Amino acid sequence: LICVGDHPASQVYIRNKITACDQVGIKSWVYRFEGQRSERAVLNKIVELNSDDEVHGILVQLPLPRSFNIERVIEAIDPAKDVDGFHPVNIGKLFSGKALFSPCTPWGIMRLIDHYKIQVEGKHAVVVGRSAIVGKPMAIMLLERHSTVTICTSKTTNLSDHVFKADILVVAAGKQNLIRGNMVKKGAVVIDVGINELPDGSLTGDVDFSGILEVASWISPVPGGVGPMTIAGLLTNTVKAFR
Ligand code: NAD
Repeated sequence: LICVGDHPASQVYIRNKITACDQVGIKSWVYRFEGQRSERAVLNKIVELNSDDEVHGILVQLPLPRSFNIERVIEAIDPAKDVDGFHPVNIGKLFSGKALFSPCTPWGIMRLIDHYKIQVEGKHAVVVGRSAIVGKPMAIMLLERHSTVTICTSKTTNLSDHVFKADILVVAAGKQNLIRGNMVKKGAVVIDVGINELPDGSLTGDVDFSGILEVASWISPVPGGVGPMTIAGLLTNTVKAFR
């Protein structure tokens, strides 16, 4: 794990990943770098880890400082060790339907859907958010499973109209209370990816949980739900990389 700077949420995520690795017997190392001007040092570390046979997975904790060229850093990782699935080679494989490492959050969501035997084929899936790490790969994975997919962004007009058509709704916008009970069709499956911090330090998702509980057939909670599944995805990808 490579961590740059002291972004508070990143410290929590790194800690959770180390604990999860310990629990399943994966050895992990954390390399910390000071902010802004350490890109060269990070790139050198990645080159070193790429050729270290003891290391099977490399993860760069995002976000990186603004001064960093994120693409350059991600592309420096050997695609065969890219356990986050962010390298363009792995994104390309995902698009071609032959993913080696799927991005961990959408992977975790597909596992939740499959675990609860929720039908995807022929259903209308709506994904709110189009980030490279959640929204876009999520849409591709749902498409791959033969659902009809709508992707909404911050510029979408009439968000409610799209959301109301969803049999499966995945919300990854990072906006508290963006989706309320009256926006969701009865019986919809609602998956909340958002993580928003409240003034008292507690966490909440992007959907109004209690309001939607009344109408949805399934709903994932925050905290819980997607967060732990993301870590499970990371562990799974790491074992895959080892094999
Ligand atoms: P991001 O900021 O990169 O992308 C957010 C997306 O939401 C953008 O595409 C934007 O267009 C869209 N959006 C914003 N406001 C919107 C609106 N009003 N209507 C429609 N679309 C809107 O964020 P991200 O990295 O994709 O993360 C999204 C959220 O998910 C964040 O809260 C993040 O913390 C959380 N997250 C959780 C996990 C997990 O494991 N549970 C993993 C990754 C991200």
